[in-house]
Amino acid sequence: MARVFIGLGSNLAEPLVQLRGALNAIAALPGTRLQNTSSFYSSDPLGPQDQPRYVNAVAEIETSLQPLQVLDALQAIELDQGRVRKAERWGPRTLDLDILLFDSQRIDLPRLTVPHYHMHARAFVLYPLAEIAPDLVLPDGRSLNDLLAACPFTGLERLASAPH
Ligand code: ATP
Ligand code: MG
Ligand code: MG
Repeated sequence: MARVFIGLGSNLAEPLVQLRGALNAIAALPGTRLQNTSSFYSSDPLGPQDQPRYVNAVAEIETSLQPLQVLDALQAIELDQGRVRKAERWGPRTLDLDILLFDSQRIDLPRLTVPHYHMHARAFVLYPLAEIAPDLVLPDGRSLNDLLAACPFTGLERLASAPH
């Protein structure tokens, strides 16, 4: 079984509903157990600013699936929940599911880079992650605590609504 962290994000079509739907779908994947979910956070959009704020969270799963099987499954959930891939980078979307960490593996495939290439600098990833895995160390030896110290809690708001 691998310990995998997934970053969730949505800024269209009732983001809270999208995230709850995604967590249920993740929990139902074959060979997979949903172990933990962070609080939900509201965050400033990356890239184009003329789009709604995002709701983000991080989930921890245990899975017997292989990395590309997890990616396929997450992309299927994105599509199922109405994700439309546009040319614009970081444009609005109903659901984004990114693999942040897959055990301590480093993966460099055309379709999959793990750890996620930009997780170390994203407050909306690091702060939710720290709620559920405060002692985490990345495969390159950097601790989550060190990354947090360099990443201000800016543009982020922890939401009162529970993930379930
Ligand atoms: P960002 O990657 O900066 O968060 P994004 O999530 O909006 O942007 P997407 O359009 O969701 O980007 O994904 C683009 C491609 O990234 C996907 O088709 C997928 O194959 C690839 N990809 C590479 N590494 C990962 C990963 N760790 N998790 C999810 N997708 C990944
Ligand atoms: Mg993303
Ligand atoms: Mg993505």
